[in-house]
Amino acid sequence: MSRVLIIGAGGVATVVAHKVAAHPEVFSDVMLASRTQSKCDNIIKSLESRGLKKAQWQSARIDADNVPELTALLEKFKPELVINVALPYQDLHIMDACLAAGVNYMDTANYEPLDEAKYQYSWQWAYHDRFKDAGLTAILGCGFDPGVTSVFTAYAAKHHFDEIQYLDIVDCNAGNHGKAFATNFNPEINIREITQRGKYWENGDWHETDPLSVHKPLNYPRVGAKESYLMYHEELESLVKNYPTLKRARFWMTFGQEYLTHLRVIQNIGMDRIDPIDYEGHKIVPIQFLKAVLPNPGDLGANYTGWTSIGCRIRGIKDGKEKTYYIFNNCSHEVAYKETGTQGVSYTTGVPATVGAMMHLKGLWKQPGVFNVEQFDPDPFLKELGPNGLPWEEIVNGDLEL
Ligand code: NDP
Repeated sequence: MSRVLIIGAGGVATVVAHKVAAHPEVFSDVMLASRTQSKCDNIIKSLESRGLKKAQWQSARIDADNVPELTALLEKFKPELVINVALPYQDLHIMDACLAAGVNYMDTANYEPLDEAKYQYSWQWAYHDRFKDAGLTAILGCGFDPGVTSVFTAYAAKHHFDEIQYLDIVDCNAGNHGKAFATNFNPEINIREITQRGKYWENGDWHETDPLSVHKPLNYPRVGAKESYLMYHEELESLVKNYPTLKRARFWMTFGQEYLTHLRVIQNIGMDRIDPIDYEGHKIVPIQFLKAVLPNPGDLGANYTGWTSIGCRIRGIKDGKEKTYYIFNNCSHEVAYKETGTQGVSYTTGVPATVGAMMHLKGLWKQPGVFNVEQFDPDPFLKELGPNGLPWEEIVNGDLEL
């Protein structure tokens, strides 16, 4: 029985709230706090209408970038854990407030400065000693990717290999939301991520590629062949550090031609700019204005059909022989919508965040310091993941295509 504070009220927070509400035996008192309190209240109403509001729920307005204000809220509510599902820009401020108030921390995306599209763990890893000395746990990157993909890798290393050597994380969204262009999570974060240069690890070094320049069709279970693009993704940074036997680690994501054409236009006309420009005497950031006119990812669910299919394709050595292993989850957008009112990408992020929180509150993922999820025991997490909506499957010694 524990108190938790969920920060954010977007698509991912909506799923976390629904999943947390389904476990009143673990989460007894919950506060949902975000920049716009009415969004928190709407989520709580949705729980009520689904008959899910069995624990104590309350909402609050908070600017999570205001450390003293957030510290005061934490000191008043006294949660055991903060589940940060606001935006990556808030990570360090929320960690600062957690340290000040003596609260454990968890997020789903690593810190990114507002004025630079550069995401890396160094800023958050630098908090390790402060969390350790305070006897507090910080769990980084507990969504799907990062999150489940990192746990899948840890599970493979623990149970299937003596040495893991080649890792390809493959992320396919074969869903159709019926819009000409929309992003599946926060558009600003999504576009900043995708338009970056590609980067992968090979033979002890990082190698860069032009954005989305390396691609090939890959076959996804129950989906078929989809063009998959090599890009940099944050979990590669921690996985190559935590699994030094990796000779190569890459990340692939599928995109449709329509999406890529829109993205190219957005870039060509400067709408992806993250620096403020002057517009009729006002300062506006083009990508933030674009977010305001694009469909809200949290509202895409109603007409979304099809699957996401995300997993890890791993090659390595077991008992002196080469072995391949593919571990993945397929998630249906329709099923996610029926259960939570959001689409599959929010769902595949919110479920692991909830399961990660359960791991911490049950004392299974509890260790003073700052940790990536692959540093904890993967077994109890994967045991809970399926029953909470994301069943996973395995293919041993199949063709990895990579
Ligand atoms: P949304 O944009 O839908 O929601 C973000 C929420 O954070 C909004 O409710 C927003 O408030 C709130 N927020 C923003 N700034 C502040 C602030 N300063 N103080 C308080 N609240 C604030 O994003 P998503 O739900 O799609 O994504 C949430 C997180 O999940 C992101 O960090 C994203 O990167 C991560 N993610 C991780 C994935 C993974 O697999 N690991 C996959 C997908 C997403 P308001 O409503 O007022 O705008």
